[in-house]
Amino acid sequence: MMEKHFAGRTASPGMALGPLVAFAPETGTRAGSGAVDIEAQALRAALATALRDLRRLIEQSPGETADILAFQVALLEDDVLSEPAFAAIAEGRAAHDAWCEAMEAEAAGYEASDDEYFRARAADLRDIRDRVLAALAGSDPVAEVPPGAIVTAVDLAPSRFLAIDWSQGGGLALTEGSATSHVAMLARSRGVPAIVGLGVDLSEFAGHALVDAHRGVLILNPSPDARMQFERDLQSASTARARADVAALRPAVTLDGTPIRILLNIADPAELKGLDPAICEGIGLVRTELLFHDRHGLPHEEQQFAVYRRIVEWAQGRPVTIRTLDAGGDKPIPGVTLATESNPFLGVRGLRLSFARPDVFRTQLRALARAAVHGELKIMLPMVSLPRELAAARAMLDEEVPALLSAGVPARRASLGIMVEVPAAAIAADQFDADFFSIGSNDLTQYVAAAGRDVEAVADLADPVQPAMLRLLRYVVEVARAQRIEVSLCGDAGGDPRAIPLLLATGLRCLSMAPALVGSAKLAVAAVDLRTLPELAPWP
Ligand code: PEP
Ligand code: MG
Repeated sequence: MMEKHFAGRTASPGMALGPLVAFAPETGTRAGSGAVDIEAQALRAALATALRDLRRLIEQSPGETADILAFQVALLEDDVLSEPAFAAIAEGRAAHDAWCEAMEAEAAGYEASDDEYFRARAADLRDIRDRVLAALAGSDPVAEVPPGAIVTAVDLAPSRFLAIDWSQGGGLALTEGSATSHVAMLARSRGVPAIVGLGVDLSEFAGHALVDAHRGVLILNPSPDARMQFERDLQSASTARARADVAALRPAVTLDGTPIRILLNIADPAELKGLDPAICEGIGLVRTELLFHDRHGLPHEEQQFAVYRRIVEWAQGRPVTIRTLDAGGDKPIPGVTLATESNPFLGVRGLRLSFARPDVFRTQLRALARAAVHGELKIMLPMVSLPRELAAARAMLDEEVPALLSAGVPARRASLGIMVEVPAAAIAADQFDADFFSIGSNDLTQYVAAAGRDVEAVADLADPVQPAMLRLLRYVVEVARAQRIEVSLCGDAGGDPRAIPLLLATGLRCLSMAPALVGSAKLAVAAVDLRTLPELAPWP
């Protein structure tokens, strides 16, 4: 087969070679494997998932809904319903197609009935069909993606990414997606090479492929020459990695001797496993969204407390900044975020959503205040626009802490800071009575440049070190200095060696980044001479 090159954009650097596996798009189609036993097993697993989910829904549903669902359960439990689909699979059909066709035939049979009751049941059948298709498409991606595979998809939800076993390598190639999306961030923090924005149809991809995420190229059916080059590149990448690993354990100091504080961004405590806390001076951002993706519902206070405490204990006395739920935007959470927003990035996300769900917010504040007893925990609010939002959140924390204490539960009033990631907060930074600022350059860039972080076509405009951003960052840093407020930056730019000199030129002295980037960021810091950096234009 001919070697073919597809150009995209690097979302996470690195290289990987392996078999291509198409990951079903969110709409719920699962590509067939071509093997009868795998297809039959996939359908059996999807049926079991759908049944389990339905039973759980019944437990949570009021009378009439529970009755409808009970009808669906009865249908699903009856092997007669799935027999035609399994028969089609045995003849070589993919599980997705077999199930779709069998259920469509069944629904058509109901629709043709003279009895109105039966005609109305066709809708139930289609509901069941879709539930099983969704389970087929993504409920158990771990089983569907062999280790070391190059996963291709249009885009991928963060929870799906996390469900794949990346421990034995592999790579990610998305036809759409964006380098600042959350899945891209996760890929970087896990060291999974990823390319986004390939801009072709998924059906183009089959066979083996090489992800060259340094150059942003996917090479389909690589020739022997390309494979040899891959081996050489791997070798030099591992040399660079070894240099970065050594640098990671050293302090970050510029050429002129200025110390720079390096903190970590994590989304899951599992990322800390095997990591030496000595590489950082603390954790600058814990994204808590993934905790809320539990299939069993929202995490309760005890669950959250246990996770926060584990992170704080890992840090061994170093400060740990945990951000309250920042759902919404490109991080929807079923049952929490609003599904009907026309522009979720400008809607009820972050702290706005916490105010809309005070039950969820207060539970999280309690868990955080309890974990704060075990170390230097700080609480950070996302998507703050106005000073009164900070004041309202503070008032809630100031109610929850004494309530815990008077119930005999150890708790501590942790310091409360804000993400500076909405232009309104950055421009009026001097108006916020926050304990600390952390600049979210990912969102701040998208809002300043009016270029969506998930829109590949405008990625060039979403440059975090463009003049408007540098001017704004410099202003926020100056305000923080004048008011003696700690300021750091926890957006992706903080771990990007190309952005680091300019960030330091704004006056920033503390950067937070994915653990995998610490070594290369420290090397970039070591190459900066603050005495020779250009003076940035001040706020007019
Ligand atoms: C940011 O916006 O820069 C940030 C760090 O938060 P997130 O990427 O999780 O939105
Ligand atoms: Mg943000």
